[in-house]
Amino acid sequence: MAELPTTSVPVDILRGFVADIFTAAGCAREEGAQISRYLLSANLTGHDSHGVIRTPRYVQWLQEGKVVAGQDIAIVHETPTHAIVDGNWGFGQTIAPRAVDLGIAKARANGLSVVGLRRTGHIGRIGDWGERAAAAGLISLHFVNVAGGELVAPFGGVDRRFSTNPICIGVPTKQGPIILDFATSLVAEGKVLVASNGGKPVPHGALIEPDGRLTSDPRTLYGPIEGTHVRDSAQGTGAMRTFGEHKGSGLAFMCEMLAGCLTEGGTSGPIPGGKRTRIANGMLSIYLAPGSFGAARFEDAAREYADYVKASRPAGAGGEVLIPGEPENRNRVERLAKGIPLQPETWAAICATARGLGLTPPAVPTPNV
Ligand code: NAD
Repeated sequence: MAELPTTSVPVDILRGFVADIFTAAGCAREEGAQISRYLLSANLTGHDSHGVIRTPRYVQWLQEGKVVAGQDIAIVHETPTHAIVDGNWGFGQTIAPRAVDLGIAKARANGLSVVGLRRTGHIGRIGDWGERAAAAGLISLHFVNVAGGELVAPFGGVDRRFSTNPICIGVPTKQGPIILDFATSLVAEGKVLVASNGGKPVPHGALIEPDGRLTSDPRTLYGPIEGTHVRDSAQGTGAMRTFGEHKGSGLAFMCEMLAGCLTEGGTSGPIPGGKRTRIANGMLSIYLAPGSFGAARFEDAAREYADYVKASRPAGAGGEVLIPGEPENRNRVERLAKGIPLQPETWAAICATARGLGLTPPAVPTPNV
């Protein structure tokens, strides 16, 4: 599908509008603002797939009772160094920071910690959680799955068995965090969503038809999309594919083990003898305090090595080596200045949700053609 022109919405206007939508939908003002802030964080870092495009779907989940406003984490199991916490089906943007803060507190007290989170709404861009830990001076590793969110075929197969299962590793340095954060699918599901709205097309082979044909057509995932704002992955007959052939598929499998089986939040697959009515993110997070390993120079050593990697001669003329997190940092600077580019279909869907809640959308510039 061809890419459509975008409109640039100033960050403050978009942030306020999305906060108003969640507040009108039933969240307390503070919670609505926090959901909006994290969605905008995804847009600002260039991950539009996990940004405000999610607003209509989140509101629909709230209205259907699939996600619940005003929730907190509940401790299911706890020791000084580790915990399993339940998200009570709260918004991921409310629940995840609290689970991360628990891991931070335990790692500060004991040098390291492991926190498993289960039964929470969509926790969005996982890099936000790596950044939160890094701001507290901690290294962190996050393995994520989506219980009930089967979208991705395993290497060698065509049937959906995994969710898009992201992995994030964050490292603190004095010049800012270094954050690796990606889905184990070839592209995040939201990128297929963005493409289906006329945004950047996904690469050929990101999707696979039931007969094994590789494709980039969002209809493989969502079925017919013409004339509707609604994207339902249950309507498509194909699957997404993992990156890196058997390697990405293996990482996706292990995310299910750690974030699904160990947390007991459940895997992407069916519940034995049951039927799922909603999806939930699971996340197993490991936090390490460098000082407790005797690594007093860790932050300096990390930055020195990053500089050394960046000093590699580029493969092509005018090219450049970037380290993890650099593209996101650059996007943030650019988008804070220029606004968030949104496809007309994405903006229309957000406005339709707002109008359904009795809100009047703000005026925005016409698309840049
Ligand atoms: P992606 O393919 O854009 O990869 C992003 C990672 O690669 C970042 O760490 C980035 O810094 C690094 N990177 C990008 N270009 C680079 C370059 N030229 N050189 C060096 N490093 C580079 O990300 P994605 O797989 O599309 O994932 C997008 C987002 O979706 C992530 O934030 C992820 O957490 C999120 N996600 C969330 C869920 C969920 O269930 N909540 C599921 C899937 C994905």
